[in-house]
Amino acid sequence: MSTSLQELFSHNRAWAARMEAERPGFFTSLVKQQTPKYMWIGCSDSRVPANQITGLEPGEVFVHRNVANVVVHSDLNALSAIQFAVERLKVENIMVVGHYGCSGVQAALEAARIGLADNWIRHIQDVRHRHRQLLDSLPDEVRANALCDINVIEQVVNVSVSTVMVDAWARGQNVTVHGWAFGVHDGLLQDLQMSVANPDALDALYSQAIDRVWDVWNSPGR
Ligand SMILES: [Zn+2]
Repeated sequence: MSTSLQELFSHNRAWAARMEAERPGFFTSLVKQQTPKYMWIGCSDSRVPANQITGLEPGEVFVHRNVANVVVHSDLNALSAIQFAVERLKVENIMVVGHYGCSGVQAALEAARIGLADNWIRHIQDVRHRHRQLLDSLPDEVRANALCDINVIEQVVNVSVSTVMVDAWARGQNVTVHGWAFGVHDGLLQDLQMSVANPDALDALYSQAIDRVWDVWNSPGR
């Protein structure tokens, strides 16, 4: 094994020993149960680690990540993760989390050719196309950030209209879908004010959240 990989094992042994020393029984209690209240749907980007950003420990957040945090209606991977989180783990909050400086969003904005991933990023280009008028009205330098926010809002809608969520809300289950954005430049999470707790609220929340994106990114000094 290469030295750099050996270092990962040595970091791991040190971490496990430190956790057990600080909190005896930590790992044996993890074995018994997984009861996270949160599901995180984020970008695979290495700068956006769910647990560290939110101060959550192993056992506290169920994570699904892909390029540019996209939830596609036919993606069995994402849908299975959402179903497991909602129906088995009974999470109370699902956060779709985008991030500023996202290469996937940037590629969609520039219609850049990457390869196979173009077909995945096409979903974000569709989002861009749907909101072209709003995006074109913003200054060049904030357009990618605005598309990051809009992409999150659209993916919150996709989660909310999935059969998993429709069924959960029909049963009266308490679960809310949120849209957040993470600033790689400052380490801070922004609430995009797109928190859907029942399907009746979806349309109004969507319109307000999209309007807010324009307000936020069009205002000087941002
Ligand atoms: Zn990204």
